[in-house]
Amino acid sequence: MAEKLLNYVNGAWRESAAERYLEVRNPATDEVLATVPLTPPGEVDEAARLALAAFPAWRRTPAPTRIQYLFKLKALMEEHFEDLSRSVTLENGKSLADARGEIRRAIENVEVACGIPTMMMGDFSEDVARGIDEYMIRQPVGVAAIICPFNFPGMIPFWYLPYAVACGNTAIVKPSERCPITMQRVFRLLEQVGFPPGVVNLVNGGADTVNALLDHPAISAVTFVGSTPVARHIYSRASANGKRVQAQGGAKNPVIILPDADPALTTRIVTDSAFGNAGQRCLAASLAITVAGAEKTFVPALAEAARNLVVGNGLEPGVHMGPVITPQSKARIESLIQQGLDEGAEAVVDGRNARIPGYERGYFLRPTILSDVPPGGVIARTEIFGPVLGMMHVDTVDEAIALVNSGEYGNMACVFTSSGAAARKFRYEADAGNIGINIGVAAPMAFYPFSGWKNSFFGTLHAQGKHAVEFFTQTKVVVERWLGEWSRTF
Ligand code: NAD
Repeated sequence: MAEKLLNYVNGAWRESAAERYLEVRNPATDEVLATVPLTPPGEVDEAARLALAAFPAWRRTPAPTRIQYLFKLKALMEEHFEDLSRSVTLENGKSLADARGEIRRAIENVEVACGIPTMMMGDFSEDVARGIDEYMIRQPVGVAAIICPFNFPGMIPFWYLPYAVACGNTAIVKPSERCPITMQRVFRLLEQVGFPPGVVNLVNGGADTVNALLDHPAISAVTFVGSTPVARHIYSRASANGKRVQAQGGAKNPVIILPDADPALTTRIVTDSAFGNAGQRCLAASLAITVAGAEKTFVPALAEAARNLVVGNGLEPGVHMGPVITPQSKARIESLIQQGLDEGAEAVVDGRNARIPGYERGYFLRPTILSDVPPGGVIARTEIFGPVLGMMHVDTVDEAIALVNSGEYGNMACVFTSSGAAARKFRYEADAGNIGINIGVAAPMAFYPFSGWKNSFFGTLHAQGKHAVEFFTQTKVVVERWLGEWSRTF
């Protein structure tokens, strides 16, 4: 019998009275792992009100005390590192190595948030006028809702949760309904940590659950990571309700390869970027633009590397790439490949109709490379979110940068070269918030903001590090004068 997932509200596990539960399937085997409730608005209301009730006492808990809970969480996550990683692979399909990398980054965010006593410090100016002082303090905002996508079920909640609670807020996490199991495991650990009731809460569900969070008056801050159409919806609806919002959206990440790029390193790194996590990363390389004849080396090299990738169940040793998340996603990706071919692209490697022995029911594609994709076509413009690398070939760096900047997204752009001058020009001119120079997945460390631009991001402050601290606090400026005997001595 598949596990029935629960919500965690006010320090207790609760079975939702939802009318509908969805099946959560292992994408490598199609086996039902769990069922997840589509929590109705009435239960969201209760969770939000209880989180708000917990806020005043948690806010008054000193920051050095609040972070003790996070130190304990870090220790528990280290202890359960393998279980959490396996859970990510089971529900998401990515290789165990990728899942371990994901949980490692989750823990790094806990570590950074342990610095809150320093990161939350304010400013003080003495004598802004005679006998008058002025200072700025940071106070938490209240209840935060954290809405997450399927592709990093163990990491993305941690871009926000540790900072939110370290800053003195209470929080409600809403995992993806397609990959909700890892957060269930994480909340078992949070329960052991022993946060006061109502500080950390887990509410499962889909669009209606999210909309109830966006509309709820008890919630002050909303963070979102997911696709661009939903990000735009979250940003407009939550901000229309007076909340502070940051919404990270989709991506279409280009990498530029110059003829002086190191062949072996570039091939290895671009292959991992395009096909790791079956291309279901918001930082996946999805378009490789070769410059001034670099295609002569890199089309065959990338094709060979793609053919050599081992595709299979991510839990098995030696597997580089797992399945995509659902049969619908697989069908959509295969149809986009066909559209690309119909538009005139050349199939260098065609990964459709993959058959993985022993996993005939899994949602597998093999890596696909399409060359000479037309600039306005579907492969050049659409976020495919699957193991498909489009390739285009241009004569100059300026043309390549113009192509990069013509896209609607701005999550990541990378360049591969041995020329510092070319790299500097690219870094300076590329319209993207995360830049890689001889790096294929330019994922910012936990102490840097995850800086999407353009249609990859709606808001001003991003996830992680100092941005998260600013997002989860509001500033209060005090101008202060004291009258009395002592003031006359100045
Ligand atoms: P998604 O937009 O389908 O879902 C994300 C969340 O939104 C889920 O929790 C879901 O329940 C909720 N949701 C879905 N439709 C909704 C609606 N109509 N109204 C309200 N809520 C709704 O995204 P996904 O498929 O889970 O994740 C993949 C997407 O996330 C890709 O586009 C990827 O690029 C993006 N992503 C972006 C980043 C980034 O940092 N920019 C990171 C990871 C993933």
